[in-house]
Amino acid sequence: MADDVTGLSRRSFLTGRMPPPAAEAGAAAPLIAGIGAGCLAAAGVDCQLCRDACAEDAIAFRPRRGGPFLPSIRASLCTGCADCLAVCPTAAIQLVPAPDAAQEAARGAAHG
Ligand code: SF4
Ligand code: SF4
Repeated sequence: MADDVTGLSRRSFLTGRMPPPAAEAGAAAPLIAGIGAGCLAAAGVDCQLCRDACAEDAIAFRPRRGGPFLPSIRASLCTGCADCLAVCPTAAIQLVPAPDAAQEAARGAAHG
């Protein structure tokens, strides 16, 4: 969550892990968190550190057969604050351009 007029979260300020310049400059597409292949949960190791770090409740963990819950980003809630990037032990989270509304609606319909 942004804590002041700078738009930076307290964690980003303290850890020195800042959002990329494009986010600060107000690029066309806002940046949100994206979870990549290095995620421990995807590799079968139980980890939910990113969810615990997210003040916006923008990271959902969905059950699956035969393995730990998997994270997914709720794009509509993510502010791109980068707090989850700071805690991920494998640096599996990056800030990526937000999907447009049509893509998000289609994804929501596909996942129920
Ligand atoms: S903190 Fe990183 S490794 Fe852990 S569940 Fe989140 S994305 Fe995966
Ligand atoms: S960047 Fe990470 S911590 Fe910040 S709102 Fe998005 S999912 Fe939550």
